[in-house]
Amino acid sequence: MSLAANALSGHRKWQPTWRDAAPRDGYDIVIIGGGGHGLATAYYLAKVHGITRVAVVEKGWIGGGNVGRNTTIIRSNYGLPGNEPFYEWSMKLWEGLEQELNYNAMISQRGVLNLFHSDGQRDTFARRGNAMRLHGVDAGLLDKDAVRRMAPFLNYDQARFPVMGGLYQARGGTARHDAVAWGYARGASELGVDIIQNCEVTGFVRDAAGAVTSVDTSRGRIGAGKVGMAVAGNSSRVAALADLRLPIESHVLQAFVSEGLKPVIPGVITFGAGHFYISQSDKGGLVFGGDIDGYNSYASRGNLPVVEDVCEGGMAIMPMIGRARLLRGWGGIMDMSMDGSPIIDRSPVAGLYFNGGWCYGGFKATPASGWCFAHLLATDGRHDTATAFRFDRFRTGHLIDEKGQGAQPNLH
Ligand code: FAD
Repeated sequence: MSLAANALSGHRKWQPTWRDAAPRDGYDIVIIGGGGHGLATAYYLAKVHGITRVAVVEKGWIGGGNVGRNTTIIRSNYGLPGNEPFYEWSMKLWEGLEQELNYNAMISQRGVLNLFHSDGQRDTFARRGNAMRLHGVDAGLLDKDAVRRMAPFLNYDQARFPVMGGLYQARGGTARHDAVAWGYARGASELGVDIIQNCEVTGFVRDAAGAVTSVDTSRGRIGAGKVGMAVAGNSSRVAALADLRLPIESHVLQAFVSEGLKPVIPGVITFGAGHFYISQSDKGGLVFGGDIDGYNSYASRGNLPVVEDVCEGGMAIMPMIGRARLLRGWGGIMDMSMDGSPIIDRSPVAGLYFNGGWCYGGFKATPASGWCFAHLLATDGRHDTATAFRFDRFRTGHLIDEKGQGAQPNLH
């Protein structure tokens, strides 16, 4: 009823979801980047730590970056001790997020199934599943018959990539990506955070000792007690403004959606022998993708060879999708760290804190990333679940080299 009334009144009575703030002279904390991670950080700074003199400075519009470009998969099926507690903490936050924000983010725990196609791959997946269970996380190793019952449409008869089974996380699934950004933006704004769009950070102002004291932006200089960077695919460019060189490369990752079809795919399915993964949106579109384009780029358009590779992977495991019509494809810029795992840490520049290196897995991390980055900014200490995500691991050799997370066959 109110929808119809608003449509007829030209939407004049609709309230903006968050305040469109103008920059003030200074804040206790300035977050650069109004993606999921920056907004979640601002929300938890205000909610958990009571720090509300906070600005989120976004060069474009909220939801215009990777938070609105990803394929919406959330899961916590990691194997390494540096990762698993963090992603499980994120999953627990996802499970309460809609109540926390009072916002419908369409969180749907429809299950994530990683297919395996060889004995060796089964052993690796069994090990990962066992590691998950040791951390109290749900995991099940399915044999071929169980997979067939769940996904009868897969190609089981091909000799080249026989489906032998899958690792299943029932609590994994999907969340509506841009609604997550909007929900955090509204929550943060209601707690007093200024969300400033169309405001690009163009430089850092530092005192005689080298500490950051302000940021220069396209809307003027903004003073800051501390500055947090959460700019995803632009990490290296923004860090360069503070003379920092990061262990990160930027690559485009493409994804695709078909026309709307009747429900057929029960959850998220990843192909273990090629670069292809798929789920079905609530509107019916088949949402799928594969690996990054193999060259460094800041352009969010991709190359045809990867499109071909993704379609080949899809056709190999799920020939029926050859009959679906493609609606659109798009790309986003990935901040690929050198071991495939993220960084949430103080930078070597005093007053400047860093959140990035999420590769293609940062959407699922959004709640815990915001929680842990807020903790770091507020307390100057690392949160218990994110102690491994430090810069100096690349110097000391304590890498978190989780199979499938870096520039190698991925699982999303
Ligand atoms: P963004 O939304 O990109 O936020 C960063 C913001 O910083 C941007 O809005 C940008 O405009 C802003 N910014 C940059 N420079 C400046 C500046 N100088 N001044 C001010 N603002 C600036 N992850 C998953 O977990 N599951 C998936 O299924 C998944 N699928 C993906 C599929 C695709 C096609 C892509 C592209 C990514 C996918 N990801 C997935 C990865 C995930 O989307 C990212 O890791 C995550 O969204 C990055 O964090 P963010 O949301 O904060 O980034």
